[in-house]
Amino acid sequence: MNDDVSTLAEWIADSPSTVFFGGAGVSTESGIPDFRGANGFYFQEREIPLETVLSIDFFTKHPEAYWEWFHEIYRPVEPNGAHKALASLEAAGRMDAVVTQNIDGLHHRAGSRAVWELHGNWERLVCTGCGMVAPLGEAVTVDGDPVPACPSCASQMRPDIVMYGESLDQGVIEAAVSAIARASTLIVAGTSLVVYPAAGLINYFSGDHLVLMNATPTSADAHADLIVRDPVARTFDQVMAELREEGAI
Ligand code: NAD
Ligand code: ZN
Repeated sequence: MNDDVSTLAEWIADSPSTVFFGGAGVSTESGIPDFRGANGFYFQEREIPLETVLSIDFFTKHPEAYWEWFHEIYRPVEPNGAHKALASLEAAGRMDAVVTQNIDGLHHRAGSRAVWELHGNWERLVCTGCGMVAPLGEAVTVDGDPVPACPSCASQMRPDIVMYGESLDQGVIEAAVSAIARASTLIVAGTSLVVYPAAGLINYFSGDHLVLMNATPTSADAHADLIVRDPVARTFDQVMAELREEGAI
């Protein structure tokens, strides 16, 4: 067992409150590309820049193109070892909250309950007319139109995610800030920490142990008490094994 894994396991076992703050790198081992990692979306050739197609302005002007793009990138995937470990830790009383920038819903799928999705969840649709929420799987499209229609009022449905040009939900931000501010250990994983305001939330941490799990350097590395460059899911597999061995979970 390497020293980093042992240290992290010890902190999780001993901390009165551990919180996880994650990004796209948490789901790459589930098969969803991140944005800025080695195989990220930013490095794939596209006619339209990502920030443009993912913006509320583009969605409003070109809903068909937006939905075509959505179906191109959407893929049903399974939680990986990191999502599963976080859910097990919560069930064992060792993880107070998961704050995620991801929209893939994999923390919920893995069984975590205290999850704050800063950017929404692409498994959900919301009606632009009446606000009705429906699972993506129940999306109704008519006559080959790629834009789903609301089953209640027939207005366009949209993914229940925060697009570029939109604000984050204030209630979700406040809950995430409160969890981070109370934490004695904060694990920041799989995020380049360049997307604001989400990345700024880790500045509310004033606890004892800041852990950075990221394949590449970030702006927060200088403040970290522990930096792990190994893949997030693999690291969690090892941490869970250690915690079980120690009888901590
Ligand atoms: P990012 O793409 O900017 O950065 C991901 C970081 O994770 C990179 O620094 C990369 O080196 C690292 N990384 C990738 N795989 C890793 C692994 N297995 N182990 C350790 N490190 C790994 O992601 P971000 O900071 O979350 O910002 C992207 C924005 O785009 C977010 O706001 C998010 O909403 C969205 N996004 C979401 C998903 C998703 O839901 N799965 C996927 C792509 C983008
Ligand atoms: Zn409606």
